[in-house]
Amino acid sequence: MLDTVTSLKGVGPKMAENLEKLNISSIQDLLFHLPSQYQDRTRVQPIATLQGGHNVLIEGVVEHTEVVFRGRRMMLSRISDGTGKLTLRFFYFGAAQQKSLSEGTKIRCFGEIRQSMYQTEMIHPEYTLLDNDFPAPLASTLTAIYPATKGLQQRTIRRLMGEALKKLSGIEDLLPGHVRSKHNMPALSDALKDIHQPDAQSNQAVLDGEHPGIKRLAFEEMLAHQLSLRQFRLQVHALPGIAMKPQGIPLKALQASLPFALTKAQQRVIKEIKHDLAQPSPMSRLVQGDVGSGKTLVAAAAALLAIEAGYQVALMAPTEILAEQHLKSFEAWLEPLGFKVGSLSGKQKAKERRDQSERAALGMSHLVVGTHALFQNHVSFAKLGLIIIDEQHRFGVEQRLALRDKGNEQIGYPHQLVMTATPIPRTLAMTAYADMDYSIIDELPPGRTPIKTVVIANSRRDEIISRIQSVCESGAQVYWVCTLIEESEALQCENAEETESMLKEQLPSVRVGLVHGRMSAQEKQEIMQQFKSAEISLLVATTVIEVGVDVPNASLMIIENAERLGLAQLHQLRGRVGRGSAASSCVLMYQPPLSKTARKRLDALRNSSDGFEIAQIDLEIRGPGEVFGTRQTGELQFRIADLVRDQAMLPEIQKTADLLLAEYPETISVLIKRWIRQSEVFIKV
Ligand code: ADP
Ligand code: MG
Repeated sequence: MLDTVTSLKGVGPKMAENLEKLNISSIQDLLFHLPSQYQDRTRVQPIATLQGGHNVLIEGVVEHTEVVFRGRRMMLSRISDGTGKLTLRFFYFGAAQQKSLSEGTKIRCFGEIRQSMYQTEMIHPEYTLLDNDFPAPLASTLTAIYPATKGLQQRTIRRLMGEALKKLSGIEDLLPGHVRSKHNMPALSDALKDIHQPDAQSNQAVLDGEHPGIKRLAFEEMLAHQLSLRQFRLQVHALPGIAMKPQGIPLKALQASLPFALTKAQQRVIKEIKHDLAQPSPMSRLVQGDVGSGKTLVAAAAALLAIEAGYQVALMAPTEILAEQHLKSFEAWLEPLGFKVGSLSGKQKAKERRDQSERAALGMSHLVVGTHALFQNHVSFAKLGLIIIDEQHRFGVEQRLALRDKGNEQIGYPHQLVMTATPIPRTLAMTAYADMDYSIIDELPPGRTPIKTVVIANSRRDEIISRIQSVCESGAQVYWVCTLIEESEALQCENAEETESMLKEQLPSVRVGLVHGRMSAQEKQEIMQQFKSAEISLLVATTVIEVGVDVPNASLMIIENAERLGLAQLHQLRGRVGRGSAASSCVLMYQPPLSKTARKRLDALRNSSDGFEIAQIDLEIRGPGEVFGTRQTGELQFRIADLVRDQAMLPEIQKTADLLLAEYPETISVLIKRWIRQSEVFIKV
């Protein structure tokens, strides 16, 4: 089974090289190279039932074929099957082809359905002309489509798979028999066979993702993923850490200086952190809490505990704006207690950075706030004991590890606390963060009035603008968030600038400010500062203000073209208001017509303010990759498992992971290697 692919018929050095590009070197690798989808050429679908985006087989009679010029020359062929009509569109065609598609010809096509308001069509379908006297049989099984690479065609992969499947008997089933029978799972070799070459009876179950073979492989894949994270966690726990036993005196002083009491949830999470800090191995804890639940204070509490114990703290934020804001908060909280707060950012002048780095290296700063600049090689700490990463979804695992290396081996590895901005559904958190312990701040500070969310078409802009006028007159503040589909930051900023001048014109008595990603860090900070101190009443911004910005006096947010943003991002944005005691509202403006999913998203937001609930809906609408944002997608890309479809299996997978760790430790690394490509295995510490 671990034989190299070159032992298969027809695999020479060139093909082996191509297979290598897909991380396939052994026969086992090949067998675990699973189809990413299937084409169903086993049945002919009625045209009337077709849905856009699917690849389908259809049959019909040509009604009309013509060559037209619509921007470019093309051939259109209209066909009908009695239930409906469909257009075939060809950009490349010859005279003979045109002739063959003459009226009355029977044709069978396979291709992707595209649907517009006016018609259903296929572009360049594969097709065969049918002859009533010579019936062309349909395929009896689904056609597997594999992740492929240049120089390696689907046909070739399918043929090689056929060869590999002959050696299936040599493959070792790593799931203990009693686990398999408990869940009624087929043997591994049967599952693989069915996935690669489903037989006719299995077609539907395979397409629906309900086939026991798929379930079994998905289970095994998620198990492997789980085990690799657990193993990583064990490795971290085995590292020498720093057992801190602070008494909590400065923390008490901070609490006494606050105008409010910590919520029960904040207190509980701080207690959990305190317990971790006292252990001789490094903490690795994730704190989840909805927007506005007060994560920053929990971070401050953790920092004070570490500082009291005699260590330095590094606090990392994902954006300059947020780093600046944290710097201000932590200075205000820590400096009166006699602790020094430093900062490191990519935008600092060389001299200032040198000074700041030196203060960190000499242990003169108790806490250093920064952005990615904290990762850089020349940055070192005298006695780093705790790393806090705010708004984790922007940082990958590698970055977390790089930061851990800032510790000093002699004194032990620093503790790590990660705070997420966007709540993640429990099932997903269990899967993606199995290398960490996990706390939830499940309570908002008291006295918040819920945010009223309305969904309004762009055409009602004028009403909204007069609403802004009266909100500003009452002394409250307003955000206006501009979005654009274009990736280009330049265009986004331009759009925001235009909106700013439009609003200035229409609201002459209101002080309007603008913040966008192309401004210098200093400009941004100045504007944010002016907004914070209420010199500016209406802040026009691109989505740079998404994360963490805290201005409690802001009570109205307008989000333009809200239909373009994902749920998590909208929830995050909306969390910028509703931070004070005044009743707040959020206006989601959209450009009609709304697509079905966009409507679902906006409705979800209007109906719920609970980030966890929203995240669950987001997961269902969009799938896990997107819930995490692009950065995390790589880490959660499964070959066959689907976190939405398979989430019910997760508790059993946890149990099975425990079982293997306890009773079958020898199978673990084999299982991980089988499923997780080397490049994806989390870096060993
Ligand atoms: P997030 O969890 O989104 O990071 P923040 O830490 O920015 O939230 O806190 C949001 C706001 O709530 C801040 O203005 C903060 O000072 C305030 N806050 C935090 N904890 C409490 C509390 N226990 N009672 C009242 N207000 C609080
Ligand atoms: Mg925050």
